[in-house]
Amino acid sequence: MNRISRRQFLYCSAAFLSTTVSGQSFFPFSGTPCEAALSEDIRGKVFKGDAPKTLWKWSHEGFLYKKLEKNKVVCGICPNRCVLAPGDRSVCRSKVNFDGTLYSLTYGNPCSVNTDPIEKKPLFHFMPRTKAFSLATTGCNFRCLNCQNYEISQAKPHDVWNYELFPPDVVKEAQRADADSIAYTYSEPITFFEYMIDTCRLAREKNIRNVIVSNAYINRKPLLELCKVLDGASLNLKSMSDDIYRQLNGGRLQPVLQTFKTLHEQGIHFEMINLVVPGYTDDDQMVKQMCAWILENLGPNYPLHFLRFFPRYKLDRLPPTPVSTLTRFRKLAMQEGIHYVYVGNVPNHEGTHTYCHNCNKLLIERMGYFIPQYNLNGNKCKYCDTIIPGVWNKA
Ligand SMILES: [Zn+2]
Repeated sequence: MNRISRRQFLYCSAAFLSTTVSGQSFFPFSGTPCEAALSEDIRGKVFKGDAPKTLWKWSHEGFLYKKLEKNKVVCGICPNRCVLAPGDRSVCRSKVNFDGTLYSLTYGNPCSVNTDPIEKKPLFHFMPRTKAFSLATTGCNFRCLNCQNYEISQAKPHDVWNYELFPPDVVKEAQRADADSIAYTYSEPITFFEYMIDTCRLAREKNIRNVIVSNAYINRKPLLELCKVLDGASLNLKSMSDDIYRQLNGGRLQPVLQTFKTLHEQGIHFEMINLVVPGYTDDDQMVKQMCAWILENLGPNYPLHFLRFFPRYKLDRLPPTPVSTLTRFRKLAMQEGIHYVYVGNVPNHEGTHTYCHNCNKLLIERMGYFIPQYNLNGNKCKYCDTIIPGVWNKA
């Protein structure tokens, strides 16, 4: 019997009643209306025999894998640890076993390329008012029911239109765009690790910083390698429940927590992103638990963002998060002791601005991605001289 929380039940019941009135089907699933909420473990599976018959110019040998008996390989990048027989494709759809060698199929082959304000990642304590040259390939090691970018995250490289942009080209384009950083973002950069780390290394040589926007689902060994060339990270902490990670995201909690500890230990700046999904993660107790874990393991200084959920993908019939919930969570997290707590996806909310944790004065005012007021001197509050955690100066 699948488990369902009381709150998920209430949301499903409400949605089912409204369905009866409108006469439309609820979730785009067959079966019972609450199949999504009732779903057990939605972690992805290896695609047996799904690899292309031949390699292409965007094939690059995997960074970290082991050869097993019978020409099988096991990928070492993420906790999925896909075991692939020849001809199989990984959970993230980006890697294949070709004749006993693991290949990434997305190297130099992004499907999405843009120049964004760094604030969009979101990174609020990292070189404000600068541009991030941003790119993604297809692929994700998760299966989030609410994915914002499922058209590329849940696609295979050849399913979508791609650019050809090898690491030196990316760095050149970033320079041409006058970007101070390169952001590996939109889908899941851990799935294009080989492409990302080679680009990071070249970017560093040109004084361009590297940031990732990620689900933090990566093994320690590749993460430590990445830390050598990583400057900042916007990382999802989707919940504090392993059940929710399995049912909503198709992952596990512990490896994510381990990633935060490793980045902390390595001195990499990161910001934590919690999307508040009604019925799944809008739980005061969980926020308290999250804050307690953060304070114990990471301290009070890493920014925490609560983002408003909007209906999307397989959760397209859930209501958006009430703004009052986000406001309450922000207050709660600050009461618990986190210094910098933000509310995202709500224009003009007071939680979009930065206030000094010592004197409470307004340090950074944000209107969308525009910054009308900026009251830091270097890395210090200009009113009380307190050091504000973050990366404030350009490389
Ligand atoms: Zn101050």
